[in-house]
Amino acid sequence: MRRDYSAFDRLAAEIREFLDHPEWACLGSDNPYAEHVRGINLAALEMWRGLLPKDDNDIDTVLQIAATMTAETLGRTRRYLHAAATLEELPQLLHQVRARGHLNMERLSFVHAGLAGVPKEILERLDPLLCEFFTATEKRQVLPGETAIKNFIRAQLLDLCPEVLEKQEEEKPAPETDAVRVRANADGSGRINISLTHDEAHELHKIIQSVARKEEVSAKEALLMLARKQTKAKIVLTLWGPQHGEPEYLHGAGFMKKSSQLLWKDRITHTLDLRGADSAVREAYDPTPEQAAYVRGRDGTCRAPGCQVSAEECDLDHVIEYDLGGVTTASNLQCLCRKHHNQKSDGRIRVFMHHRGTCQWFYPNGRMVSTQPCGPLAAPAKRPRWGREWRSTRTRMEMRPKPPKKKPGPKGGAARKSKPKSSRNASSASPRERSNR
Ligand SMILES: [Zn+2]
Repeated sequence: MRRDYSAFDRLAAEIREFLDHPEWACLGSDNPYAEHVRGINLAALEMWRGLLPKDDNDIDTVLQIAATMTAETLGRTRRYLHAAATLEELPQLLHQVRARGHLNMERLSFVHAGLAGVPKEILERLDPLLCEFFTATEKRQVLPGETAIKNFIRAQLLDLCPEVLEKQEEEKPAPETDAVRVRANADGSGRINISLTHDEAHELHKIIQSVARKEEVSAKEALLMLARKQTKAKIVLTLWGPQHGEPEYLHGAGFMKKSSQLLWKDRITHTLDLRGADSAVREAYDPTPEQAAYVRGRDGTCRAPGCQVSAEECDLDHVIEYDLGGVTTASNLQCLCRKHHNQKSDGRIRVFMHHRGTCQWFYPNGRMVSTQPCGPLAAPAKRPRWGREWRSTRTRMEMRPKPPKKKPGPKGGAARKSKPKSSRNASSASPRERSNR
């Protein structure tokens, strides 16, 4: 039977047209609010630049004055002032932002967060790379979000100055893990704050989620049950790194500092070789573990515009549906959170994937935007160090539980496959065993 490919040809022509005129979706010529976006971004930037204090000013006084003048919170005032100060040290990016007005203070604060403490000579080398990163490569491209910005900067720093990063991390004081603050609210509720590294916080979050699902309770009740030794949890986390090195990236937490990498390396129980997973084609509907791991590592987050749900939490979606002839291969698979997966399945939005992993999203009103993958395997050309190592030896690693200090308790079920229990599980396992992964 002869197949009619004319629809595909029209779509391909449309895609080529889009690819030929790259621009950010928020500033696109067809966006009636583009000038508003540009004006707001530029006005905010000039305001925060104008509020920058002198070096000998008292920081608390400066923050209070700036916060009252701008009607912002102290926290946001601090972040935006730091963002504006960091931008002063990146003259090429400053020029680009002032010329285009594409970056708002929130995104600039993500840039600052990624660059905090980086020496001036490294900033000079990063400056043109950031300009390139913040230059659209697709038509109506969605601006990179927090995960993409931080991942990009971290990858560049790992490539440009790994020794500087390690030195900084050695000099950083250890997180105050024992500094727990408890605050009583007027309404009778309470709040507890504890300082953790990002990877530790992600691990704890996953444990709480696992218990909440298993015991069918709220997150708060799950945490209390863990503290009261009324339950235990087993979770599996996915890390990424070169085959013979330390894991460098943890889904949900991003690139990790050296000391965290060494800790996680000792907990790996299973590795997966991803060579060839980017181009493998499978007859069956379900992707292989290698394909699934590659797609999650490429995408980083849900691929829907603006969504920051971690790829680990997402479904794997056939962009062209399997029943309609869509192939089970990385260039036809994408990570979608459940909400956006349903949106696509319901036909409320259509998506087309480019072979490089770029997704074009078509809305019912005719508007189209494109999103880029932002995981540790995305855009190898922009990550020369990872590109070299990962193209030859891509590895997925899973952590193993730490050996219990005391005698082991009863074995827990596999977290990812265990079903919630109807009754509470009281056991005598130690807290460490309860958080077994
Ligand atoms: Zn989503």
